This record gives sequence, C-alpha cells and structure tokens, in this order.
Amino acid sequence: MVLDPWGEFKVEDYEKLCRDFGIQPLKPLLHEFKDPPAFIRRAIIFGHRDLDIVLRAVKECTPFAVMSGIKPTGDFHLGSLLTAKEIVYFQKLGGLAVYCIADIEAYEDNDLPFEVSKEIAVSNIADILAIGFDPKRGYIYRQSRERRVKDLAYLFGKGVTLATMTAIYGDRHFGLYMSAFIQIADILLPQLKDFDGPKPTVIPVGIDQDPHIRFARDVAHRFRESLGFIPPAATYHKIMRGLDGSPKMSKRSPLSYFTLNEDLDSVRWKLANAYTGGRATAKEQRELGGIPELCCIYELCAFHFMEDDSKLIDMYRRCKAGDVLCGECKAEVEELVLDFLRQHQERRRSFIDEALRIVEEEERREPSYL
Ligand code: SF4
Repeated sequence: MVLDPWGEFKVEDYEKLCRDFGIQPLKPLLHEFKDPPAFIRRAIIFGHRDLDIVLRAVKECTPFAVMSGIKPTGDFHLGSLLTAKEIVYFQKLGGLAVYCIADIEAYEDNDLPFEVSKEIAVSNIADILAIGFDPKRGYIYRQSRERRVKDLAYLFGKGVTLATMTAIYGDRHFGLYMSAFIQIADILLPQLKDFDGPKPTVIPVGIDQDPHIRFARDVAHRFRESLGFIPPAATYHKIMRGLDGSPKMSKRSPLSYFTLNEDLDSVRWKLANAYTGGRATAKEQRELGGIPELCCIYELCAFHFMEDDSKLIDMYRRCKAGDVLCGECKAEVEELVLDFLRQHQERRRSFIDEALRIVEEEERREPSYL
C-alpha cells in the first residue's frame, strides 16, 4: 500500500498499516492521557510516532507545541473537525497551538488562485475559532504570507535529490514537491527560536499525510545540530467512511459528506439517505438486529456526535438487539447533528470579523508576490 497525501486510498486494516509503516499503536499510551476525549478513548486516533515525548512534556509542564492545518479548498468537513478538536485539546493541555492555512498546497494541488483561497481561509479560521482555538495562545497563518516557512523550505531543499522525492511522493510535478518542502517547514516552524523552540511538537493528521511526517522527521535529524530540531511527533486518525457507504468522504461525491457550514435541510436529506447497517425489512431487523459495524450513522456518533460512552454503547446494543429500526435511530441522530451544526454556525458567524482581522493583519505584516 502507498500513502499518498494528494490521492485517493482506502485502509482495510489499521493494525497492518501500523506494522507496515512503523507507526506505533496508541492503545498502550491511553493511560497517560488525562480526561481523554472520545476520539482518543475510542481509538479513532489509532496510532502515533513519538507521542510519549509530548505526553511527558504535558505531565512535567514543560513547553511543547501542537501544529496542524487545512488546505483551503472549501468549508470545514468532519475530517477537518477532528484535527481541529485535537489541536484545541492539546492547546488546553498547555501547548502552543499553530494552525496553518495551506494555500500554496491548494494552488499546486487544486489549481486554486490565491484570491479565492484567501476568502476560504477567512471561513476556515472562523471555524477553528468557533471550535475553541484560542488565538492568544496560538498562531494562525497562511503559507503564502509566512516568510519563515518559505525560508525554511529553501534551506531544507539542500541535499535532497529527485530520487528521494520520487521515493517518498511518487512521480509528481515540481510544484507539488515544492509544496511538500513548504509542508515540512510548517511542521518544524513551532521549533524556531521565534516560538521559544526547539520543543517537542505533535502534528495531528489523517494517515494519508504520513509521507510529510516521515520527510519532516528526516529533515529534523539533518538539521538537529544547526537548528536544534527535535523530530516531530504525530498522531494519526482513522478515515471516516462516506455517508453514502463509499470508503471515504470525498469532495468529489457531495452525498458522501456534509460541511459544518451546510444548509440544515441539505444535511437532513443526506442523513435520511445515509447508508446504514439495517436489514432489508422491518421484520428481519426486529428478528436479527442491525449491523452497526457497517453503519455510517453509528460511525458519525462514534467519531463526533455522541461524547457519552454509555449512550453509544446503548445505541449499539439497541441496534444489535433489533429494538430500534433505522428510521427512528436516524431521527434521533439527526437531532444531535443538527443541534451541533446550529450552535456551531452561530458561533462561527460571531468569529468572522476576527478571522478577517487575522488575515488582513498578516497581509500588512508580510506582503507577498503569490
Ligand atoms: Fe445504524 Fe441505527 Fe440502523 Fe443500527 S438501527 S443500523 S445503528 S441506523
């Protein structure tokens, strides 16, 4: 299997993936977390590299950072929400939080003009603020406006051959290779002296981003002496299946996902038509029970919308026992999802001005030709 940050893939077996790529399973570290949120308790964050170093910093109250970002190609979806929740969690544990808007990557990978990604960046920043990111204890920036990231990318290129880039990323155009250097510069940015670095840093990502993590760790080793970098730690979350039953939520199939800014009637319709683990008839379902392991509605609750474990266990039990039919079950979950979206959409509206201020301040501070 090849992990590709710019392509499509599906994971059949997370344990095998951990073995194949040298990723450590998260389970043995579970007892180290104080009040772990559901996405950690339920192994949605299934693996890590060197997270113990960051957890030690949390325990000993020594400096650490958390860094991740979003490609500004559209509104926040459930994958962006998971990463954002993880950043906010580590920020609340005392870490410096750094959030990058990957507009150079959006230009290279999605052909998105910078004027367009700027507008989307405002929307994405409002979302992360609404989720709880505290800008007073963090830093939000766009790649095209962060001179230090571009300088680091230039330094990191020394000594890297085309063969290395092809081995990590496959045969790509040079713009994507350059955006990879920018990404690893993002990953190592919190370790600069300007951010009181070097310091242990955790990068929460989807598993498809692992090539950037491996590349950044390799570069951190090379620049250990000159810049003092500590190889960055990472956590990896599972990929949610599409609501339509497809292996992955994808912008290419609008029925497979919804965004946090989506019209509520549209979300209601998508949930009503979502793929479930229900049986062909009500009679069969009452007799045999449903199959929550196959059900997107159950997965939505496990990943995002049912924080209370006892409620999730009850949902599983009622489904298995045939005590509930999919229609009733979906109606209950629809309420949870729409309640969350109503509140989130109201909160994000209240953060739009602040998001705009962050973007405009950055433009005044750092002009760019991009
Ligand atoms: Fe999914 Fe609920 Fe139907 Fe079970 S009853 S298959 S959890 S929708």
